[in-house]
Amino acid sequence: MTDPLAILKDTFGFDHFRGVQEEVIGRVLAGRSTLAVMPTGAGKSLCYQLPAVAREGTALVISPLIALMHDQIRSASAIGLRAASLTSADTDRERTIERFKAGELDLLYVAPERANMDSFRRLVSRVNLSLIAIDEAHCVSEWGHDFRPDYRQLRTLLDENLDVPRLALTATADRRTREDILAQLGVPEDGLVIAGFDRPNIRYHVRPRDGLNAQLKLLLASQTGAGIVYAPSRDKSERIAEQLSSTGRPSLAYHAGLDPSIRARNQSAFVASEEMVMAATVAFGMGIDKPDVRFVAHAGIPKSIESYYQETGRAGRDGDPAEAWLFWGAEDFARARTRIEQEVEPDRRPEERERLNALAAFVETAGCRRAILLKHFGEDTPEACGNCDNCIDPPKTIDATELARKLLSAAFRTEMRFGVAHLADVLAGNDNEKVRSFGHDRLSVFGIADADEVALVRPVARALIARDALRADAYGGLSFGPGAKPILKGEQELTIAVPPPRRRGSRVRRQG
Ligand code: ADP
Ligand code: ZN
Repeated sequence: MTDPLAILKDTFGFDHFRGVQEEVIGRVLAGRSTLAVMPTGAGKSLCYQLPAVAREGTALVISPLIALMHDQIRSASAIGLRAASLTSADTDRERTIERFKAGELDLLYVAPERANMDSFRRLVSRVNLSLIAIDEAHCVSEWGHDFRPDYRQLRTLLDENLDVPRLALTATADRRTREDILAQLGVPEDGLVIAGFDRPNIRYHVRPRDGLNAQLKLLLASQTGAGIVYAPSRDKSERIAEQLSSTGRPSLAYHAGLDPSIRARNQSAFVASEEMVMAATVAFGMGIDKPDVRFVAHAGIPKSIESYYQETGRAGRDGDPAEAWLFWGAEDFARARTRIEQEVEPDRRPEERERLNALAAFVETAGCRRAILLKHFGEDTPEACGNCDNCIDPPKTIDATELARKLLSAAFRTEMRFGVAHLADVLAGNDNEKVRSFGHDRLSVFGIADADEVALVRPVARALIARDALRADAYGGLSFGPGAKPILKGEQELTIAVPPPRRRGSRVRRQG
């Protein structure tokens, strides 16, 4: 067998392995099954492409997306690898099967659905495989954020090829997902290789949403390079693109509802530009090769810490300083909670709630953001990174437990039908018409908050909603969630970061 380093140079044109590549490739070449957890951009493809060249036979690569397969085949073919895919989009399937049978392929890409077909498994039994790579392996786990039942069934194919090393690859897997992948795909525990997750050049900032347009414009004023703004919906991505364009900054929208030709055009414009801002849904970014993205902003909360890590990880792949900004509102959490309770299957709800709680802890923390992110992926970290908002400018924190109790009582006394503005009025003792008409000026909670506390009612409500102590209905009415009782009973405290003062002067003037 040829020396892997020689193949790295001759075939791939690289001088060194990066990070854990050497370890992963060494294992595969030795025929040992492996789960490689490597962040986006760490070079996962090489981990199976190089052994595909070095070992006898064809490497079977299971991949969930046709578009990704075709990208991979293009870049593999460009360096002389013999690669093909068998998908519904491929018209030359017969010929590919012939080449596969004749041992003329280094790499064959298939979707899990095909890999599980009897006919395909019969075909495989007649061919010499060098390895089986399972890309996006977190899809095998119900605990992972993108479960696909077809991945579960891959075990049959794998066990029919026990002598072939398995290489499972994923960019995002927390501890439980990792354990699950190992068990589901039959990879031994000592086959786990984890690359460092830290992206030290990314500076994390998290802010409550407070005039999003002004916040984005302020951000753009300090960020001249290309960036991505993730919007929570297609509509919003288009509106944000319009808003930003009106300031003179080139900005386009990208979401799955756009015509494919427009999507492709906007994407190439973005890749080519050094100043464009793409306002996009999370449909944008996967597989995009643009190392000089200078910032990624979220206009609302991401789906989970894993998604956040993956989406912000598209910034600064060139290693130069980059920024991640998250603008969140209590209503984001309220909506996510409602979705879990109404749309998620009951037995999956507990883990989805836990996921959301982890995200709430990340946005609410007064401590180091990076520490929370890395701990989530099981990495030990120093207490402070020196390169996130809270490390650079530690927020003042206050014990808001007492005020939280007052707010919860006010919600309870008003029959849990009113929103935060009304509850603030009641606590402040404002006997306006609405307060009087409901008789809320006669409640024991009327006027029990002093001026300092009244100023903090909103941030406290936001914190309570984020941790599911309060739930907002469709009209903003606040009622108790499971987190309310421990606070009322004095079993749990609430510390919040004192919010920075609103920067009214920062509103951007309309250009005449
Ligand atoms: P991932 O799938 O982990 O996100 P890729 O496999 O797409 O990452 O690789 C990311 C980039 O890094 C690609 O442009 C690839 O060519 C490059 N790359 C991978 N390994 C090396 C290496 N050892 N040296 C230099 N560049 C590398
Ligand atoms: Zn930090």
